[in-house]
Amino acid sequence: MRLDDKTVLITGSGTGIGEATALRCAEAGATVVSTDVDAEAAAATAASIRDADADEQSSSNSHSTSSRENGEATSYELDVTDADRFHAVVDEVADEHGLDVLVNNAGIGHPPSSVEDTDASVRDYVVDVNINGTWNGCHAALPVMKEQGSGSIINMASVGGMVGFPYQSVYALTKAAVINFTRAVAAEAGPAGVRANAVCPGFVDTQLTEAFFAGREDPEAAREEMIQQYPLRRLGESEEIADCVAFLASDAASFVTGHALTADGGFSST
Ligand code: NAD
Repeated sequence: MRLDDKTVLITGSGTGIGEATALRCAEAGATVVSTDVDAEAAAATAASIRDADADEQSSSNSHSTSSRENGEATSYELDVTDADRFHAVVDEVADEHGLDVLVNNAGIGHPPSSVEDTDASVRDYVVDVNINGTWNGCHAALPVMKEQGSGSIINMASVGGMVGFPYQSVYALTKAAVINFTRAVAAEAGPAGVRANAVCPGFVDTQLTEAFFAGREDPEAAREEMIQQYPLRRLGESEEIADCVAFLASDAASFVTGHALTADGGFSST
């Protein structure tokens, strides 16, 4: 599965699933635009892609070949809640490289709390990042993709948007919204040749998951209890989600749109 000649912009790619996705897309030949609210983290992801590329070059040079497997990488500071900034970054990238794939990955969780104990400021911030951030990305990228008559948008949802986790109501609200927003985008942009899909991971080992368990009375016991609810009896790895994104980004998924791809070790099927 290759992404040669495609430019892929990823939000929240400084760490976790976004970082793994950036590395996976670069391995598949894409030009990667790494963005994050944390500018240094976004830049570090782009740098590790360039370093891998340099290593690849020197090892292929020693084998007397100039073939290039990895794509290039640049980075931007981008807070997805800032719609004007999102438009400016997308327009600059589109002018420079074109924009084939947008991965709206940036997302946040919140400490476990009941609906009635959840502060409105927490609700509003999680909604702003997870829903408005995804909206801002589509708002910025769709005119570019429709104009060029092609494109693939991948929105990071969650199994938390499909089943009802107690004490995660705001997260559930936002991720369910992302799933159905994605279907609406697919219906709207399909006639212009643009695809839109969501990915719904189960628990994946990242700092977001660590924070989730850290909020429990006995984090290790809570984690073990969660693992026992997964038919595969483990949590996911960021790279496994990155593979799903790379598939949806690629031409191998050319007839797939409006789909919510679950990657949850079977959790939601039990
Ligand atoms: P993470 O916390 O490891 O990484 C999130 C990245 O997003 C960080 O680099 C952070 O700086 C960045 N970010 C946060 N707010 C931002 C903003 N306003 N603008 C731009 N960047 C911002 O999280 P992760 O686990 O890699 O999660 C990535 C996505 O996957 C999220 O949308 C999350 O909801 C979703 N997801 C994660 C899991 C999981 O178990 N880890 C499960 C289902 C879905």
